[in-house]
Amino acid sequence: MIQIKGEKAIAAMRIAGRITGEAIYLGGQAVKDGVSTKHIDDIIRQHIEKCGATPSFLGYGGFPGSACISINDEVIHGIPSKNRIIKDGDIVSIDVGACYRGYHGDSCCTFACGNVSDKAKRLMEATEKAFYLGAAKAVAGNRLGDIGSAIQEYVEGLGYGVVRQYVGHGVGHDLHEDPEVPNFGRAGHGVRLYANMTIAIEPMITEGNYDVKVGPDGWLVTTRDGSLASHYEHTVLVTEGEPELLTKI
Ligand code: MG
Ligand code: MG
Repeated sequence: MIQIKGEKAIAAMRIAGRITGEAIYLGGQAVKDGVSTKHIDDIIRQHIEKCGATPSFLGYGGFPGSACISINDEVIHGIPSKNRIIKDGDIVSIDVGACYRGYHGDSCCTFACGNVSDKAKRLMEATEKAFYLGAAKAVAGNRLGDIGSAIQEYVEGLGYGVVRQYVGHGVGHDLHEDPEVPNFGRAGHGVRLYANMTIAIEPMITEGNYDVKVGPDGWLVTTRDGSLASHYEHTVLVTEGEPELLTKI
């Protein structure tokens, strides 16, 4: 069931969103050659806890980290590890959730470590731009297909792939709520948007084919063809006018 949020929920989500955004910023600052993904996860968890919130992902379905940290051809759900060392030229997606007074923020950004290739830069820029094109459609009265089609048209126009097997989602009291928010679709179709819905819009974009596979740990999702992947996400409050990005700091 889709939840339309009340003022109290929205107030808590603004705080959860700010904490989430700050944690991603701090994690991104720590992306350097030679650093482990566990080190970044520690920084993120410490910030969330210092703010009086809890990491949404820690223990979610048994996930062992506070952030999902996914590198290069890894799309989502990378488990932080002291043995996973970031190298110069890597692109590193940091996906974080924070829960404050029972309400979640969910956001992701892909960061460059040092000197990344031009093609990796273009992919990251396109993913961010795709998010903003989709988010611009998150206005009361529009439909979910307006968001998905705006993302898909732009991304496929550049020759990139839009991941189909994983999608955005409602977010609030639960980390994952209805409705599903695909990064593809047909304009004018799908669930109608109402003011005070809160949704995570999160394009996952591949340099090659959009097909993905789950690794042996049951979590890590990588591109099947080994091509680079990029991910960008904010928790978005739908309004009658301009959408409010709750996790943007
Ligand atoms: Mg996320
Ligand atoms: Mg999400």
